[in-house]
Amino acid sequence: MNKQKHIIIIGSGIGGLASACLLSKKGYKVTILEKNDMPGGRASLIVKDTEKGKFIFDKGPSWYMMPDVFEDFFKVLGEDINKHLELQLLSPSYRVFQEEGKSFDFFANIEKNKETFESLEKGSGDVLEKFLSQTKFQYEVAKQEFMYKNYDSIFDFFNKRVMTLGRKLPLFSKQSTIINRLFKNDLLQKVMQYQTVLLGTSPYDTPGIYTLMNYVDFGLGVWYPKGGLYEVTKAFVNIAEKHGTEIKVNSPVKKINIDNGKATGVTLENGAIIDADMVISNADYHHTEQVLIEEDKYREHSQKYWDKRTLAPSAFIMYLGIDGKIPTLSHHNLFFPKAWKENFDKIFKHPTWPGYPALYVCAPSKSDDSIAPNNTENIFVLVPIAAGLSHTEEEKGLYADKILSLMEKELDIPNLKERIITKEIYSVDNFIKDYNAFKGTALGLAHTLPQTAIFRPNNISRKVENLFFVGAGTNPGIGVPICIISAELIYKRIEKISDPEPLKEV
Ligand SMILES: Cc1cc2nc3c(=O)[nH]c(=O)nc-3n(C[C@H](O)[C@H](O)[C@H](O)COP(=O)(O)OP(=O)(O)OC[C@H]3O[C@@H](n4cnc5c(N)ncnc54)[C@H](O)[C@@H]3O)c2cc1C
Repeated sequence: MNKQKHIIIIGSGIGGLASACLLSKKGYKVTILEKNDMPGGRASLIVKDTEKGKFIFDKGPSWYMMPDVFEDFFKVLGEDINKHLELQLLSPSYRVFQEEGKSFDFFANIEKNKETFESLEKGSGDVLEKFLSQTKFQYEVAKQEFMYKNYDSIFDFFNKRVMTLGRKLPLFSKQSTIINRLFKNDLLQKVMQYQTVLLGTSPYDTPGIYTLMNYVDFGLGVWYPKGGLYEVTKAFVNIAEKHGTEIKVNSPVKKINIDNGKATGVTLENGAIIDADMVISNADYHHTEQVLIEEDKYREHSQKYWDKRTLAPSAFIMYLGIDGKIPTLSHHNLFFPKAWKENFDKIFKHPTWPGYPALYVCAPSKSDDSIAPNNTENIFVLVPIAAGLSHTEEEKGLYADKILSLMEKELDIPNLKERIITKEIYSVDNFIKDYNAFKGTALGLAHTLPQTAIFRPNNISRKVENLFFVGAGTNPGIGVPICIISAELIYKRIEKISDPEPLKEV
Protein backbone atom coordinates (compact mmCIF):
# COMPACT_ATOMS: atom_id res chain seq x y z
CA MET A 1 0.00 0.00 0.00
CA ASN A 2 2.87 2.34 0.86
CA LYS A 3 4.38 1.80 -2.59
CA GLN A 4 2.20 4.66 -3.78
CA LYS A 5 3.69 7.04 -1.21
CA HIS A 6 6.82 8.79 -2.40
CA ILE A 7 9.31 10.10 0.16
CA ILE A 8 12.16 12.40 -0.78
CA ILE A 9 15.17 12.47 1.53
CA ILE A 10 17.45 15.49 1.13
CA GLY A 11 21.00 14.33 1.90
CA SER A 12 22.62 10.93 2.15
CA GLY A 13 24.27 11.20 5.56
CA ILE A 14 23.92 8.34 8.02
CA GLY A 15 20.50 9.62 9.17
CA GLY A 16 19.24 9.91 5.59
CA LEU A 17 20.52 6.50 4.53
CA ALA A 18 19.28 4.75 7.67
CA SER A 19 15.83 6.31 7.18
CA ALA A 20 15.85 5.10 3.58
CA CYS A 21 16.69 1.54 4.72
CA LEU A 22 13.72 1.48 7.11
CA LEU A 23 11.19 3.23 4.91
CA SER A 24 11.97 1.45 1.66
CA LYS A 25 11.93 -1.90 3.47
CA LYS A 26 8.48 -0.96 4.73
CA GLY A 27 7.39 -0.38 1.14
CA TYR A 28 7.62 3.37 0.60
CA LYS A 29 9.09 4.66 -2.66
CA VAL A 30 12.20 6.52 -1.48
CA THR A 31 14.44 8.90 -3.41
CA ILE A 32 17.58 10.35 -1.84
CA LEU A 33 18.91 13.58 -3.35
CA GLU A 34 22.54 14.23 -2.43
CA LYS A 35 24.46 17.37 -3.42
CA ASN A 36 27.91 15.74 -3.32
CA ASP A 37 29.29 13.12 -5.68
CA MET A 38 29.17 10.25 -3.19
CA PRO A 39 26.83 9.15 -0.41
CA GLY A 40 27.65 9.28 3.31
CA GLY A 41 27.86 12.98 4.10
CA ARG A 42 30.31 13.38 6.98
CA ALA A 43 30.74 9.59 6.88
CA SER A 44 32.18 9.48 3.36
CA LEU A 45 35.66 8.91 1.96
CA ILE A 46 38.76 10.61 0.64
CA VAL A 47 40.93 8.46 -1.64
CA LYS A 48 44.49 9.44 -2.61
CA ASP A 49 46.34 7.63 -5.35
CA THR A 50 50.09 7.98 -4.80
CA GLU A 51 53.24 6.45 -6.27
CA LYS A 52 53.35 4.12 -3.28
CA GLY A 53 49.73 3.07 -3.77
CA LYS A 54 46.27 4.01 -2.53
CA PHE A 55 45.41 5.69 0.79
CA ILE A 56 41.75 5.39 1.79
CA PHE A 57 40.75 7.89 4.49
CA ASP A 58 37.50 7.98 6.41
CA LYS A 59 36.51 11.60 5.89
CA GLY A 60 34.85 12.08 9.28
CA PRO A 61 33.90 9.42 11.85
CA SER A 62 36.46 6.84 12.90
CA TRP A 63 35.23 5.69 16.34
CA TYR A 64 32.70 2.86 16.12
CA MET A 65 31.00 3.05 19.51
CA MET A 66 27.69 1.83 20.97
CA PRO A 67 27.89 -1.48 19.04
CA ASP A 68 24.52 -2.49 20.52
CA VAL A 69 22.77 0.28 18.54
CA PHE A 70 24.28 -0.90 15.24
CA GLU A 71 23.46 -4.52 16.02
CA ASP A 72 19.84 -3.72 16.90
CA PHE A 73 19.45 -1.67 13.73
CA PHE A 74 20.67 -4.43 11.42
CA LYS A 75 18.34 -6.85 13.23
CA VAL A 76 15.37 -4.52 12.70
CA LEU A 77 16.17 -4.61 8.99
CA GLY A 78 16.34 -8.42 9.06
CA GLU A 79 20.05 -8.30 8.20
CA ASP A 80 23.03 -10.10 9.74
CA ILE A 81 25.49 -7.37 10.71
CA ASN A 82 28.41 -9.79 10.26
CA LYS A 83 27.57 -10.18 6.59
CA HIS A 84 28.04 -6.43 6.16
CA LEU A 85 30.77 -5.50 8.64
CA GLU A 86 33.92 -7.30 9.76
CA LEU A 87 34.09 -5.93 13.28
CA GLN A 88 36.95 -6.07 15.73
CA LEU A 89 37.18 -4.78 19.30
CA LEU A 90 40.23 -2.53 19.49
CA SER A 91 42.71 -3.33 22.21
CA PRO A 92 43.79 -0.92 23.46
CA SER A 93 40.79 1.27 22.76
CA TYR A 94 43.15 4.23 22.55
CA ARG A 95 46.46 5.66 23.73
CA VAL A 96 46.69 8.94 25.63
CA PHE A 97 49.77 11.14 25.37
CA GLN A 98 50.44 13.82 27.98
CA GLU A 99 52.39 16.99 27.34
CA GLU A 100 56.05 16.19 28.03
CA GLY A 101 54.97 13.01 29.75
CA LYS A 102 54.41 9.30 29.44
CA SER A 103 51.64 7.74 27.35
CA PHE A 104 48.99 5.38 28.76
CA ASP A 105 46.70 2.83 27.12
CA PHE A 106 43.03 2.38 28.00
CA PHE A 107 40.93 -0.69 27.27
CA ALA A 108 37.41 -2.09 27.37
CA ASN A 109 38.71 -4.21 30.24
CA ILE A 110 38.09 -3.18 33.83
CA GLU A 111 41.05 -5.07 35.32
CA LYS A 112 43.56 -3.48 32.93
CA ASN A 113 42.06 -0.03 33.46
CA LYS A 114 42.01 -0.43 37.23
CA GLU A 115 45.74 -1.15 37.15
CA THR A 116 46.44 2.02 35.16
CA PHE A 117 44.12 4.13 37.28
CA GLU A 118 45.74 2.81 40.49
CA SER A 119 49.21 3.59 39.10
CA LEU A 120 48.12 7.21 38.69
CA GLU A 121 45.97 7.65 41.80
CA LYS A 122 45.69 5.29 44.75
CA GLY A 123 42.14 4.02 45.25
CA SER A 124 40.90 5.29 41.86
CA GLY A 125 40.54 1.76 40.41
CA ASP A 126 37.66 0.92 42.74
CA VAL A 127 36.14 4.36 42.19
CA LEU A 128 36.22 3.69 38.45
CA GLU A 129 34.55 0.29 38.81
CA LYS A 130 31.73 1.70 40.95
CA PHE A 131 31.29 4.70 38.67
CA LEU A 132 31.02 2.48 35.60
CA SER A 133 28.19 0.50 37.17
CA GLN A 134 26.34 3.80 37.84
CA THR A 135 26.97 5.03 34.27
CA LYS A 136 25.86 1.65 32.87
CA PHE A 137 22.55 2.21 34.67
CA GLN A 138 22.38 5.72 33.15
CA TYR A 139 23.06 4.36 29.67
CA GLU A 140 20.29 1.78 30.01
CA VAL A 141 17.81 4.35 31.33
CA ALA A 142 18.74 6.77 28.55
CA LYS A 143 18.17 4.06 25.94
CA GLN A 144 14.83 3.08 27.42
CA GLU A 145 13.51 6.51 28.33
CA PHE A 146 15.15 9.25 26.26
CA MET A 147 16.96 8.22 23.13
CA TYR A 148 14.37 6.27 21.17
CA LYS A 149 11.55 8.65 22.01
CA ASN A 150 9.90 11.37 19.97
CA TYR A 151 9.17 14.58 21.82
CA ASP A 152 5.98 16.54 21.31
CA SER A 153 5.60 18.35 24.60
CA ILE A 154 7.53 19.05 27.77
CA PHE A 155 5.51 16.28 29.45
CA ASP A 156 7.13 13.69 27.18
CA PHE A 157 10.39 14.61 28.84
CA PHE A 158 9.33 15.21 32.42
CA ASN A 159 6.90 12.27 32.67
CA LYS A 160 6.26 10.38 35.89
CA ARG A 161 8.71 7.57 35.20
CA VAL A 162 11.53 9.90 34.20
CA MET A 163 10.88 12.07 37.26
CA THR A 164 11.14 8.97 39.49
CA LEU A 165 14.27 7.72 37.75
CA GLY A 166 15.54 11.28 37.46
CA ARG A 167 16.31 11.35 41.16
CA LYS A 168 18.92 8.68 40.51
CA LEU A 169 20.35 10.53 37.49
CA PRO A 170 22.77 13.46 37.47
CA LEU A 171 20.59 15.56 35.18
CA PHE A 172 21.70 19.00 36.22
CA SER A 173 25.27 18.89 37.53
CA LYS A 174 28.03 19.39 34.99
CA GLN A 175 30.07 16.47 33.68
CA SER A 176 33.38 18.04 34.81
CA THR A 177 32.05 18.62 38.36
CA ILE A 178 31.09 14.96 38.73
CA ILE A 179 34.40 13.70 37.36
CA ASN A 180 36.58 16.08 39.36
CA ARG A 181 34.82 15.07 42.54
CA LEU A 182 35.71 11.41 41.87
CA PHE A 183 39.21 11.69 40.46
CA LYS A 184 41.95 14.07 41.58
CA ASN A 185 44.73 13.05 39.20
CA ASP A 186 45.01 15.51 36.31
CA LEU A 187 45.37 12.88 33.57
CA LEU A 188 42.50 10.76 34.90
CA GLN A 189 40.24 13.80 34.98
CA LYS A 190 41.03 14.44 31.32
CA VAL A 191 40.59 10.76 30.38
CA MET A 192 37.15 10.78 31.98
CA GLN A 193 36.15 14.15 30.47
CA TYR A 194 37.30 13.98 26.84
CA GLN A 195 34.22 11.95 25.78
CA THR A 196 32.15 15.16 25.80
CA VAL A 197 34.06 16.25 22.70
CA LEU A 198 32.36 13.36 20.88
CA LEU A 199 29.11 15.14 21.76
CA GLY A 200 30.42 18.43 20.41
CA THR A 201 30.56 20.09 23.79
CA SER A 202 32.83 20.92 26.70
CA PRO A 203 32.87 18.94 29.97
CA TYR A 204 32.33 22.28 31.72
CA ASP A 205 28.99 22.70 29.97
CA THR A 206 27.70 19.13 29.50
CA PRO A 207 24.87 17.84 31.68
CA GLY A 208 26.02 15.08 34.05
CA ILE A 209 23.68 12.54 32.46
CA TYR A 210 26.22 12.32 29.64
CA THR A 211 28.70 10.63 31.97
CA LEU A 212 26.93 7.65 30.38
CA MET A 213 29.58 8.17 27.69
CA ASN A 214 32.12 6.87 30.22
CA TYR A 215 30.29 3.56 30.18
CA VAL A 216 30.07 3.64 26.36
CA ASP A 217 33.84 4.12 26.26
CA PHE A 218 35.10 1.83 29.07
CA GLY A 219 32.20 -0.63 29.19
CA LEU A 220 31.18 -1.18 25.57
CA GLY A 221 34.56 -0.43 24.03
CA VAL A 222 35.80 1.00 20.76
CA TRP A 223 35.30 -1.14 17.69
CA TYR A 224 36.56 -1.04 14.11
CA PRO A 225 34.91 -2.29 10.94
CA LYS A 226 37.59 -3.52 8.52
CA GLY A 227 37.86 -1.00 5.69
CA GLY A 228 36.85 1.85 8.03
CA LEU A 229 33.63 3.56 9.08
CA TYR A 230 32.70 4.09 5.43
CA GLU A 231 31.80 0.39 5.46
CA VAL A 232 28.74 1.40 7.52
CA THR A 233 27.74 3.90 4.82
CA LYS A 234 28.28 1.24 2.15
CA ALA A 235 26.16 -1.28 4.05
CA PHE A 236 23.30 1.21 4.37
CA VAL A 237 23.54 2.10 0.67
CA ASN A 238 23.37 -1.60 -0.24
CA ILE A 239 20.40 -2.31 2.02
CA ALA A 240 18.48 0.81 0.95
CA GLU A 241 19.06 0.06 -2.75
CA LYS A 242 18.09 -3.59 -2.24
CA HIS A 243 14.70 -2.35 -1.04
CA GLY A 244 14.30 0.00 -4.00
CA THR A 245 15.66 3.33 -2.74
CA GLU A 246 17.04 5.47 -5.55
CA ILE A 247 20.11 7.49 -4.57
CA LYS A 248 20.84 10.44 -6.84
CA VAL A 249 24.24 12.04 -6.21
CA ASN A 250 25.25 15.44 -7.67
CA SER A 251 21.67 16.55 -7.03
CA PRO A 252 21.69 19.63 -4.80
CA VAL A 253 18.25 20.67 -3.61
CA LYS A 254 17.50 24.38 -3.92
CA LYS A 255 14.12 24.55 -2.23
CA ILE A 256 11.45 22.53 -0.47
CA ASN A 257 8.18 23.10 -2.33
CA ILE A 258 5.34 23.99 0.02
CA ASP A 259 1.76 24.38 -1.07
CA ASN A 260 -0.77 25.64 1.40
CA GLY A 261 1.26 24.54 4.42
CA LYS A 262 2.04 21.10 2.96
CA ALA A 263 5.38 19.82 1.60
CA THR A 264 4.82 18.72 -1.98
CA GLY A 265 8.37 17.93 -3.09
CA VAL A 266 11.56 19.79 -3.95
CA THR A 267 13.15 21.93 -6.64
CA LEU A 268 16.73 21.05 -7.54
CA GLU A 269 19.45 23.61 -8.27
CA ASN A 270 19.09 22.71 -11.97
CA GLY A 271 15.42 23.71 -11.86
CA ALA A 272 13.95 20.20 -11.96
CA ILE A 273 10.89 19.72 -9.76
CA ILE A 274 10.37 16.38 -8.01
CA ASP A 275 7.02 15.76 -6.38
CA ALA A 276 6.59 13.71 -3.23
CA ASP A 277 4.10 12.92 -0.49
CA MET A 278 6.64 13.58 2.24
CA VAL A 279 10.01 15.30 2.51
CA ILE A 280 12.68 14.39 5.06
CA SER A 281 15.65 16.71 5.32
CA ASN A 282 18.95 15.18 6.38
CA ALA A 283 20.78 18.38 5.38
CA ASP A 284 22.00 20.55 8.27
CA TYR A 285 18.98 21.91 10.14
CA HIS A 286 19.95 25.58 9.82
CA HIS A 287 20.44 25.22 6.05
CA THR A 288 17.09 23.45 5.68
CA GLU A 289 15.19 26.11 7.59
CA GLN A 290 16.98 29.24 6.46
CA VAL A 291 17.72 28.33 2.84
CA LEU A 292 15.58 25.43 1.63
CA ILE A 293 12.40 26.83 3.18
CA GLU A 294 11.87 30.10 1.37
CA GLU A 295 9.00 31.66 3.28
CA ASP A 296 9.57 32.85 6.81
CA LYS A 297 6.11 31.77 7.95
CA TYR A 298 7.08 28.12 7.39
CA ARG A 299 10.25 28.29 9.53
CA GLU A 300 10.13 27.15 13.15
CA HIS A 301 13.19 29.14 14.18
CA SER A 302 14.50 32.58 13.29
CA GLN A 303 18.06 33.47 12.33
CA LYS A 304 18.26 35.10 15.77
CA TYR A 305 17.52 31.68 17.34
CA TRP A 306 20.39 30.11 15.39
CA ASP A 307 22.77 32.95 16.25
CA LYS A 308 22.18 32.21 19.93
CA ARG A 309 22.83 28.45 19.71
CA THR A 310 25.94 26.77 21.11
CA LEU A 311 27.52 25.19 18.07
CA ALA A 312 29.63 22.06 18.28
CA PRO A 313 33.22 22.73 17.25
CA SER A 314 34.49 22.80 13.72
CA ALA A 315 37.70 20.92 13.05
CA PHE A 316 41.09 21.43 11.49
CA ILE A 317 41.84 18.09 9.87
CA MET A 318 44.82 16.64 8.03
CA TYR A 319 44.63 13.43 6.01
CA LEU A 320 48.21 12.19 5.81
CA GLY A 321 49.88 9.32 4.02
CA ILE A 322 53.20 8.68 5.81
CA ASP A 323 56.19 6.76 4.53
CA GLY A 324 57.24 3.97 6.93
CA LYS A 325 55.57 2.85 10.13
CA ILE A 326 55.11 4.98 13.29
CA PRO A 327 55.85 2.73 16.28
CA THR A 328 54.67 5.15 18.99
CA LEU A 329 51.08 5.25 17.74
CA SER A 330 48.16 2.97 18.48
CA HIS A 331 45.00 2.89 16.30
CA HIS A 332 43.38 5.80 18.21
CA ASN A 333 45.58 8.38 19.92
CA LEU A 334 44.74 11.41 22.00
CA PHE A 335 47.10 14.17 23.04
CA PHE A 336 46.02 16.12 26.12
CA PRO A 337 47.91 19.40 26.65
CA LYS A 338 48.40 21.06 30.04
CA ALA A 339 46.16 23.98 29.01
CA TRP A 340 43.01 21.85 29.05
CA LYS A 341 40.26 24.24 30.17
CA GLU A 342 41.87 27.10 28.23
CA ASN A 343 41.57 25.01 25.06
CA PHE A 344 37.84 24.45 25.65
CA ASP A 345 37.43 28.19 26.27
CA LYS A 346 39.11 28.90 22.94
CA ILE A 347 36.49 26.72 21.25
CA PHE A 348 33.33 27.70 23.12
CA LYS A 349 33.88 31.05 24.84
CA HIS A 350 36.46 33.16 23.02
CA PRO A 351 36.86 31.66 19.54
CA THR A 352 40.58 31.74 18.72
CA TRP A 353 43.11 29.35 17.24
CA PRO A 354 44.47 27.13 20.01
CA GLY A 355 48.25 27.55 20.20
CA TYR A 356 49.05 24.20 21.79
CA PRO A 357 45.85 22.23 21.19
CA ALA A 358 44.43 18.87 22.14
CA LEU A 359 44.84 16.43 19.24
CA TYR A 360 43.15 13.33 17.99
CA VAL A 361 45.36 11.19 15.76
CA CYS A 362 43.86 8.12 14.12
CA ALA A 363 46.16 5.54 12.57
CA PRO A 364 43.74 2.89 11.26
CA SER A 365 46.57 1.29 9.27
CA LYS A 366 47.65 -0.12 12.66
CA SER A 367 44.67 -2.53 12.45
CA ASP A 368 43.92 -2.66 8.74
CA ASP A 369 46.35 -3.06 5.84
CA SER A 370 43.61 -2.58 3.21
CA ILE A 371 43.57 1.21 3.58
CA ALA A 372 47.24 2.07 3.06
CA PRO A 373 50.12 0.79 0.93
CA ASN A 374 52.76 -1.52 2.44
CA ASN A 375 55.08 0.01 4.99
CA THR A 376 53.17 3.28 5.25
CA GLU A 377 50.66 4.75 7.74
CA ASN A 378 47.23 6.20 7.06
CA ILE A 379 46.91 9.11 9.49
CA PHE A 380 43.94 11.33 10.30
CA VAL A 381 44.74 14.31 12.53
CA LEU A 382 41.98 16.39 14.10
CA VAL A 383 42.23 19.60 16.09
CA PRO A 384 38.89 20.76 17.51
CA ILE A 385 38.50 24.48 16.78
CA ALA A 386 35.68 26.98 17.16
CA ALA A 387 32.97 27.06 14.49
CA GLY A 388 32.99 30.34 12.60
CA LEU A 389 36.79 30.85 12.59
CA SER A 390 38.13 32.01 9.26
CA HIS A 391 41.55 31.55 7.74
CA THR A 392 43.44 31.98 4.47
CA GLU A 393 45.13 29.11 2.63
CA GLU A 394 48.48 30.45 3.84
CA GLU A 395 47.32 30.48 7.47
CA LYS A 396 46.08 26.91 7.12
CA GLY A 397 49.49 25.83 5.81
CA LEU A 398 51.26 27.53 8.73
CA TYR A 399 48.90 25.95 11.25
CA ALA A 400 49.41 22.52 9.67
CA ASP A 401 53.16 22.96 10.04
CA LYS A 402 52.72 23.87 13.71
CA ILE A 403 50.60 20.76 14.37
CA LEU A 404 53.11 18.52 12.60
CA SER A 405 55.88 19.93 14.82
CA LEU A 406 53.74 19.28 17.88
CA MET A 407 53.23 15.67 16.74
CA GLU A 408 56.94 15.16 16.14
CA LYS A 409 57.67 16.32 19.68
CA GLU A 410 54.79 15.07 21.82
CA LEU A 411 53.94 11.83 19.98
CA ASP A 412 57.61 11.12 19.38
CA ILE A 413 57.45 10.83 15.58
CA PRO A 414 60.88 11.72 14.15
CA ASN A 415 61.00 13.47 10.74
CA LEU A 416 57.25 13.34 10.29
CA LYS A 417 57.20 16.30 7.92
CA GLU A 418 59.81 14.77 5.59
CA ARG A 419 57.92 11.47 5.48
CA ILE A 420 54.64 12.85 4.14
CA ILE A 421 53.59 11.18 0.88
CA THR A 422 50.19 12.86 0.65
CA LYS A 423 48.54 15.60 2.69
CA GLU A 424 45.10 17.16 2.47
CA ILE A 425 43.89 19.89 4.83
CA TYR A 426 40.20 20.20 5.64
CA SER A 427 38.74 22.98 7.77
CA VAL A 428 35.85 25.35 8.55
CA ASP A 429 35.38 26.52 4.93
CA ASN A 430 35.24 22.90 3.69
CA PHE A 431 32.43 22.05 6.13
CA ILE A 432 30.48 25.03 4.82
CA LYS A 433 31.12 24.16 1.16
CA ASP A 434 30.61 20.40 1.40
CA TYR A 435 27.68 20.20 3.85
CA ASN A 436 26.13 23.69 4.04
CA ALA A 437 27.16 23.57 7.70
CA PHE A 438 26.23 26.66 9.73
CA LYS A 439 29.50 28.52 10.49
CA GLY A 440 31.32 25.37 9.43
CA THR A 441 30.42 23.35 12.50
CA ALA A 442 31.74 19.81 12.08
CA LEU A 443 29.03 18.21 14.19
CA GLY A 444 25.97 20.48 14.51
CA LEU A 445 24.42 21.68 17.75
CA ALA A 446 26.38 20.98 20.94
CA HIS A 447 24.71 18.75 23.55
CA THR A 448 24.20 21.38 26.21
CA LEU A 449 21.09 21.03 28.40
CA PRO A 450 19.10 23.67 26.46
CA GLN A 451 19.89 21.75 23.25
CA THR A 452 18.98 18.26 24.45
CA ALA A 453 15.79 16.16 24.05
CA ILE A 454 12.66 18.34 24.07
CA PHE A 455 14.87 21.44 23.79
CA ARG A 456 16.63 20.29 20.59
CA PRO A 457 15.08 21.31 17.23
CA ASN A 458 12.31 18.80 16.64
CA ASN A 459 12.30 16.15 13.91
CA ILE A 460 8.82 17.09 12.71
CA SER A 461 7.79 20.48 11.38
CA ARG A 462 4.88 22.08 13.18
CA LYS A 463 4.48 24.60 10.37
CA VAL A 464 4.70 22.39 7.30
CA GLU A 465 2.71 19.20 7.06
CA ASN A 466 4.68 16.15 5.86
CA LEU A 467 8.07 17.72 6.50
CA PHE A 468 10.55 15.91 8.76
CA PHE A 469 14.18 16.28 9.84
CA VAL A 470 16.72 13.52 10.46
CA GLY A 471 20.38 13.44 11.47
CA ALA A 472 22.69 15.10 13.96
CA GLY A 473 20.82 18.43 14.05
CA THR A 474 17.71 16.96 15.60
CA ASN A 475 17.00 14.27 18.21
CA PRO A 476 18.74 12.45 19.71
CA GLY A 477 21.86 14.20 18.32
CA ILE A 478 25.46 13.81 17.23
CA GLY A 479 27.33 10.65 16.20
CA VAL A 480 26.86 7.74 13.81
CA PRO A 481 24.88 5.47 16.18
CA ILE A 482 22.82 8.44 17.37
CA CYS A 483 21.93 9.38 13.78
CA ILE A 484 20.83 5.75 13.27
CA ILE A 485 18.45 6.25 16.21
CA SER A 486 17.24 9.51 14.65
CA ALA A 487 16.21 7.46 11.60
CA GLU A 488 14.22 5.09 13.80
CA LEU A 489 12.49 8.13 15.28
CA ILE A 490 11.48 9.36 11.82
CA TYR A 491 10.18 5.92 10.94
CA LYS A 492 8.07 6.01 14.12
CA ARG A 493 6.75 9.46 13.20
CA ILE A 494 5.72 8.35 9.74
CA GLU A 495 4.30 5.02 10.87
CA LYS A 496 2.69 6.70 13.90
CA ILE A 497 4.41 4.44 16.46
CA SER A 498 4.49 5.96 19.93
CA ASP A 499 6.54 3.22 21.64
CA PRO A 500 9.62 4.83 23.29
CA GLU A 501 11.71 1.65 22.90
CA PRO A 502 13.95 0.60 19.97
CA LEU A 503 12.06 -0.81 16.98
CA LYS A 504 11.75 -4.60 16.90
CA GLU A 505 11.05 -4.97 13.19
CA VAL A 506 9.82 -3.05 10.14
C1 LIG B 1 35.53 15.03 11.52
C2 LIG B 1 34.41 14.26 12.15
C3 LIG B 1 34.69 13.21 12.98
C4 LIG B 1 33.64 12.47 13.55
N1 LIG B 1 33.93 11.39 14.33
C5 LIG B 1 32.93 10.57 14.74
C6 LIG B 1 33.23 9.32 15.29
O1 LIG B 1 34.40 8.95 15.42
N2 LIG B 1 32.19 8.50 15.65
C7 LIG B 1 30.89 8.88 15.48
O2 LIG B 1 29.98 8.10 15.81
N3 LIG B 1 30.59 10.09 14.93
C8 LIG B 1 31.57 10.92 14.53
N4 LIG B 1 31.30 12.10 13.91
C9 LIG B 1 29.89 12.53 13.83
C10 LIG B 1 29.13 11.80 12.74
O3 LIG B 1 29.95 11.62 11.64
C11 LIG B 1 27.93 12.63 12.35
O4 LIG B 1 27.16 12.98 13.51
C12 LIG B 1 27.01 11.89 11.39
O5 LIG B 1 27.73 11.21 10.41
C13 LIG B 1 26.07 12.92 10.78
O6 LIG B 1 25.13 12.28 9.98
P1 LIG B 1 23.85 13.04 9.47
O7 LIG B 1 22.78 12.04 9.29
O8 LIG B 1 23.54 14.20 10.35
O9 LIG B 1 24.21 13.55 8.01
P2 LIG B 1 25.46 14.36 7.42
O10 LIG B 1 26.65 13.51 7.42
O11 LIG B 1 25.55 15.69 8.03
O12 LIG B 1 24.98 14.46 5.92
C14 LIG B 1 24.08 15.42 5.45
C15 LIG B 1 24.07 15.31 3.95
O13 LIG B 1 23.18 16.30 3.40
C16 LIG B 1 23.76 16.77 2.20
N5 LIG B 1 23.18 18.07 1.85
C17 LIG B 1 23.32 19.24 2.51
N6 LIG B 1 22.62 20.22 1.87
C18 LIG B 1 22.03 19.62 0.79
C19 LIG B 1 21.20 20.09 -0.25
N7 LIG B 1 20.80 21.37 -0.32
N8 LIG B 1 20.80 19.21 -1.21
C20 LIG B 1 21.17 17.92 -1.17
N9 LIG B 1 21.97 17.42 -0.20
C21 LIG B 1 22.39 18.27 0.77
C22 LIG B 1 25.24 16.85 2.52
O14 LIG B 1 26.01 16.87 1.33
C23 LIG B 1 25.43 15.56 3.32
O15 LIG B 1 25.76 14.48 2.49
C24 LIG B 1 32.30 12.83 13.30
C25 LIG B 1 32.03 13.91 12.45
C26 LIG B 1 33.07 14.60 11.87
C27 LIG B 1 32.76 15.73 10.93
